Amino acid sequence: MTRLLLIGPPGSGKGTQAARLSARLGIPAISTGDIFRDNVRGGTELGVLAKSFMDRGEYVPDSVTNDLVRDRLAAADADSGFLLDGYPRTAEQVRTLDEFLATRGHSLDAVVQLTADEDETVSRLLRRAAEQGRTDDTEDVIRHRLEVYARETAPLIDVYASRGVVVSIDGLGSMDEVTDRIVDALGGLGIDGKAA
Ligand code: AMP
Repeated sequence: MTRLLLIGPPGSGKGTQAARLSARLGIPAISTGDIFRDNVRGGTELGVLAKSFMDRGEYVPDSVTNDLVRDRLAAADADSGFLLDGYPRTAEQVRTLDEFLATRGHSLDAVVQLTADEDETVSRLLRRAAEQGRTDDTEDVIRHRLEVYARETAPLIDVYASRGVVVSIDGLGSMDEVTDRIVDALGGLGIDGKAA
């Protein structure tokens, strides 16, 4: 059983690496951003609410996000492990996740921190904006998302580091190079994802 979290600034390649690791390790990737975007596309009540925050580069309120993740983690396919992408992003979300896992006698096996410098992440995000037309990828919103990340989410890495579960991975390089780095680092921790 492997329970992982992928953390890093917008544009660090989290989503891409989450999909690849999920396939390599045989565990579901759970991306709150993807769940919100699916709901926006589907025009659900949650989607309408989430969009109003996402389009401004703000975080969706913790109460909404925490309920969503609790439901998702309680689904059968997350029993055998999971890879969280983009959650937790606030101290309150860390508390909720801790409590959810603790009541089941579980904890995170590793927190993979993807690093990338700001110029690179901004240029990646602008490229993605041109390719995919995400409404939260305009330059102003990107700048704000990076600020919110620095204020709310970056400090969480210290919280996990004090638990001794953080591995820092250089997010620069080809997709394959970065995936290999992560898989190697996890292997060093005895995580190959296949163990029951
Ligand atoms: P992402 O695809 O992970 O970059 O997320 C896109 C947007 O969805 C973020 O900028 C937030 O508005 C929202 N979002 C995703 N995950 C969370 C979270 N854990 N807490 C609050 N808002 C989130």
